[in-house]
Amino acid sequence: MNEKGILIVVSGFSGSGKGTIMKELLARYPDTYALSISATTRSPREGEVDGREYFFVSKDEFEKMIAKGELIEYAKYVENYYGTPRDYVEKKLDEGRDVILEIEIQGALNVKKMFPDTLLLFVTPPNAEELKKRLVGRGTETMDVIESRMNRACEEAVGMENYDYLIINDNLDRCVEEMHSIIQGEHRRSSRNCEFMKEIKEDLERMKH
Ligand code: 5GP
Repeated sequence: MNEKGILIVVSGFSGSGKGTIMKELLARYPDTYALSISATTRSPREGEVDGREYFFVSKDEFEKMIAKGELIEYAKYVENYYGTPRDYVEKKLDEGRDVILEIEIQGALNVKKMFPDTLLLFVTPPNAEELKKRLVGRGTETMDVIESRMNRACEEAVGMENYDYLIINDNLDRCVEEMHSIIQGEHRRSSRNCEFMKEIKEDLERMKH
């Protein structure tokens, strides 16, 4: 059976818990999934390590990567560039790993346009009230910041319907297993198994009396 990996884009509201879900999915299935590391021009936040969360590069370096075609897609988001390096993604897909890009919607739609086989997943909390509760619950943000995050969620909700599946995050464990099932189910889609269908048809023809 054709076992090239699937390209998956995961987007979602900030505060939806998508980062935690990704981390847990990779911890549970380290041989199945590979998470792409993006390049960005924004500065590292505390605790972030170059080459782990992102490849932190200058604007100049980023523009060179664009010019050389080294990025599958890129987007400008709040004054900074973010982009997906091509080499790693292609290498892992060829090795049969499912590669996950955790990117915003503009990038997601660009990837889908270029690679129509991409699976688009959108992570959302069960309702708006819950999103607010989580932002308040972090206890680290002022009311102003929470309000601006809630406003941003309105913008992030535009285009949700372009995604293939919604992942409703009400329980981490269930959510991780659901995401895994959706992706593994996707491997069985007939259009992803043309080679298998061709072979079995040929074999059946040969065995016909
Ligand atoms: P942050 O600065 O909070 O790490 O990320 C800001 C936004 O950029 C998030 O929505 C994140 O998913 C998105 N992002 C991260 N890497 C990429 C990328 O390579 N391409 C695109 N288009 N968006 C990205």
